[in-house]
Amino acid sequence: MSIRGTAACPLCGRVSSLQSTEPAVQLDCPDCGPYEVTTGVIGHLRSDARAKAGVRAEIQRQIISGVARPHISLEVLKALLGR
Ligand SMILES: [Zn+2]
Repeated sequence: MSIRGTAACPLCGRVSSLQSTEPAVQLDCPDCGPYEVTTGVIGHLRSDARAKAGVRAEIQRQIISGVARPHISLEVLKALLGR
């Protein structure tokens, strides 16, 4: 199932276009850029400012290194947070 619409970016709060492709969500944020996160990661971002900052930095790093749409899974998040 695919849902298209807009949503607040879970990283910075700006309105972004969204495409839901369970179990991940693709977002195009005017600030953070194009990225994809799994729904499990979004749950962590809501309650964890450190995770939010880490994910945002990782997305920027990957976009600069040439990744068209960084994918952030729970495994990536855990690696970022060192646990
Ligand atoms: Zn954003």
